[in-house]
Amino acid sequence: KNVLLDVQNLKTYYPVKGGFLRRTVGHVKAVDNISFKIKAGETLGLVGESGCGKSTTGRTILRLLNPTDGKILFDGKDITSLRGKSLRDIRQDMQMVFQDPYASLNQMQMVGDVIAEPILNFGKRSKKALKEEIMDLLEKVGLPPDAYYKYPHEFSGGQRQRIGIARALALRPKLIIADEPVSALDVSVQSQVLNLLNDLQDEFDLTFLFIAHDLSVVKHMSDRIGVMYLGNMAEIADNISIYADPLHPYTQALISAIPEPDPKKRKQRIVLEGDVPSPINPPVGCPFHPRCQHAKPECSQIKPQLKEVKKGHQVACHLYS
Ligand code: SF4
Ligand code: MG
Repeated sequence: KNVLLDVQNLKTYYPVKGGFLRRTVGHVKAVDNISFKIKAGETLGLVGESGCGKSTTGRTILRLLNPTDGKILFDGKDITSLRGKSLRDIRQDMQMVFQDPYASLNQMQMVGDVIAEPILNFGKRSKKALKEEIMDLLEKVGLPPDAYYKYPHEFSGGQRQRIGIARALALRPKLIIADEPVSALDVSVQSQVLNLLNDLQDEFDLTFLFIAHDLSVVKHMSDRIGVMYLGNMAEIADNISIYADPLHPYTQALISAIPEPDPKKRKQRIVLEGDVPSPINPPVGCPFHPRCQHAKPECSQIKPQLKEVKKGHQVACHLYS
């Protein structure tokens, strides 16, 4: 399959303003040089603690934020610095599903109009054709036809996320960036929404970038998983290897924290000392070195690059060079 999304050495820095004149006094290095690819039809899970840069990565790919450096290739086209109409056009092919469906939906709009909005922004339809299209989308996401005439506040959290998904699907995108789409939902409805996304992926030929702070949520959704730490990609592997054979000490700690119901399979929990450092002044060398139990002298001096150490398994760590 062809590569749909190719992110190369992406950096997204935010200026930090300070002092009386509100001058730029530094930068938050939210995303600090990451690279990855997603093939058409594939799901890449992107995992890390809050503030590690995963949402900023998603927003930069959608060009809701401007990258500071690097390249974003989408469907073979360089979209890094698109503007105006060409940026608008490419956005039809990439949509976002947000964490909080309530905040991302217009409360004053009937659900039918919420879903119609992106369609009408990009094309014309007869009233009848538009309504049929929306009824069809409601059915696809598992909502009853009368949802069309209701308002977002009349729905439960899980149903609201279905509305958000119908809206994202309305333009028949190729790529969906789902930013913690189930973390605001009750555990009992999380798997329903995950199953829905999985079914829609096959039906609509979707490619997913699936962002989560929790490795257990992405496990069944993802073909491959990338682990981010402090704006950097620590490790990328297929979804079996990352759990069975985590290479990066940070990934190993995350995996050890996943509850394991079977006491025989339970591993020693690795507890990380200290807090995640500030992305304004990230550590020199490996960003993880102040918390790493395996740190060597070079770890505080040389930043490890992401390298393939086994087939399809990349890691950024000096233990493997
Ligand atoms: Fe730990 Fe060094 Fe590997 Fe960083 S490069 S994760 S500090 S061993
Ligand atoms: Mg899938």
